[in-house]
Amino acid sequence: MLRRRFGGLLLAAFVLFSVPGCGFEPGLGEEQVLPLSADLIVIGDGVGGLTASLEAVRQGAAVLLFVEEPLAEGRFWEEGALHPKEAEAAGAGTLQEALAACGRGRGKGWHYELLSQNAAGALAWLSRETGLQMLPGEGFRYLPDNLFSVHPHRCLRETAVQEGVRLIAGVELKELLFGAGGEAAGVSFCDPAGQLNEAYAPAVILADGGFLGNPAKMAELAPEVTAASWREESRGGGLELARAAGLDLVDESLFSYALARETEAGWAPVEPPPETLLIIDGQIVPCSSYRESDLVELLRGTPPGSGYLLLPGDRVEEAPDWIRYSGIVSFLEDVQLDLPELRRRFRNPETVFWGCPVKPAAAYCLGGIAVEEAGRVLRDGKAVGGLYALGETAGGLNGEAVMPGAALTEALVWGRLLGAAAVDRLSDH
Ligand SMILES: Cc1cc2nc3c(=O)[nH]c(=O)nc-3n(C[C@H](O)[C@H](O)[C@H](O)COP(=O)(O)OP(=O)(O)OC[C@H]3O[C@@H](n4cnc5c(N)ncnc54)[C@H](O)[C@@H]3O)c2cc1C
Repeated sequence: MLRRRFGGLLLAAFVLFSVPGCGFEPGLGEEQVLPLSADLIVIGDGVGGLTASLEAVRQGAAVLLFVEEPLAEGRFWEEGALHPKEAEAAGAGTLQEALAACGRGRGKGWHYELLSQNAAGALAWLSRETGLQMLPGEGFRYLPDNLFSVHPHRCLRETAVQEGVRLIAGVELKELLFGAGGEAAGVSFCDPAGQLNEAYAPAVILADGGFLGNPAKMAELAPEVTAASWREESRGGGLELARAAGLDLVDESLFSYALARETEAGWAPVEPPPETLLIIDGQIVPCSSYRESDLVELLRGTPPGSGYLLLPGDRVEEAPDWIRYSGIVSFLEDVQLDLPELRRRFRNPETVFWGCPVKPAAAYCLGGIAVEEAGRVLRDGKAVGGLYALGETAGGLNGEAVMPGAALTEALVWGRLLGAAAVDRLSDH
C-alpha cells in the first residue's frame, strides 16, 4: 500500500472531529492517525458507498469514506427495491428480462444478471442491518413496511462508524491520483482553509451519485431536461473527477424520468391514485390504464406546463395533498382549459376534485462513468486497476430507463460486490 505521512495535524483534527461519532480513538496516538492512507477510499455515503465501506471494513480493510454533511434525510425507500422471488414464481417472467425490456435493449446483460442473482440476498442483508422490513408489492417490487420507524441510511452510517470506517467530511475533492502503472492511488482534496492534501489507497470507489442537483451541469449537458428538484444532494463531483482524469464517460444526457407534481417546495414525485385522470393536450387519459413510464412518455411529447392530474373526489378514500376544486368548472377555469368532454362527464356541480400540474422530471442519471463487468472504470476502453464506480456515478448499465426500485437495489448489490473486490485487491499489494 502506498503510505505517506503529513505534518497536517490541524487538518486531521478538523477532518476527524467534524463528523459525529468520529475522532481520535482511545489508545491511538496522533502518529497513527495522521497519515491519510487506507486500503480503500470510498467517495459518497449513499446506500452504495455505505454498503461497500461496511463490506470492506468487515473483511479487515482500513476504509476512508468521504461524505457530505448533513446526511440525506429523504424517504428514499418509498419506491422500494427489487426482489425476483414472488413475481417469477407467479409467472411474471424473469427480473432479468423485465430489466432488459425497461432499458429497451440498451442496458448491459451482465448488470441485469447480477441484479437478478443478488437482489434477494442484498435485501435480506439490508433488513438484518437496519431492521427495514420489505413486503411484496406489484411485480418485482418490494415495498418498505416500517419506514416510519427506520432510517436505513442513518443506520448504515452509524454502523459503519462503529465498525471503524473513518469519515472525512467538509472537504472539496480535487483530483483522482494514479500510480505509475495508471492504477488508482487515491484522491487529492482541499480542506476548508483551502490547503491541498492527499489521501492514498490502492482502491477507490466513486459512489457520489449523478448530477441532477447540479443546475450548471444540467444546463450544459442537457438543456432540454428538467431535473427533479428533490435531488439536490447529487451534484456529480465524481463525474467531474473522472472527466478531468480522462476516464471514459457514456450517455451523459440520458435520464430516467418520473412523474412529478408542483409543491410549495418545488417539484416532488407523485404516484397518482388509480382513479386519477391525466389531462394532457386536450386528451383525458385514465392513469389506471397505463404504466407510469407510458404516462411519462405521453408528457414528454407535449409542451411543458400542459399536463394536469385530476382526481374526481366521489370515490377517494384519502384526499391527496393537491389543490381542491368544487366542481369541474372551477378546475377548468383555474387551468384555463375548455374541455367539453370533462364538463359532460362530470355534470354534478357538487363533485369535488383534486388537481395539480404534472410534468416528467429527470429522476435518475442513466449516463456516467463507463465501467466493465467487475465495476472497474474504463479509460480508452481498458479497465483501470483499483478504480470503481457504482450507482448513478456509473453510466450505461440500465439502458434507456431504470425500473422503479432498481436504483437502490443496484446500489446495494454493487456496493457489496465492490467492497469485496477492493479487499481482494489488497492481496496484490
Ligand atoms: C426522494 C427520493 C426517493 C427515492 N426512492 C427510491 C426508492 O424507493 N427506490 C429506489 O430504487 N430508488 C429510489 N430513489 C433513487 C435512489 O435513491 C438513487 O438512485 C440512489 O440512491 C443512487 O445511489 P447512489 O449511491 O448512486 O447515489 P446517492 O444515493 O445519491 O448517494 C450519493 C452520496 O454521495 C454524497 N456525495 C455527493 N457528492 C459528494 C462529495 N463530493 N464528497 C462526498 N460525498 C458526496 C451525497 O451526499 C450522497 O449521500 C429515490 C431518490 C430520491 C431522491
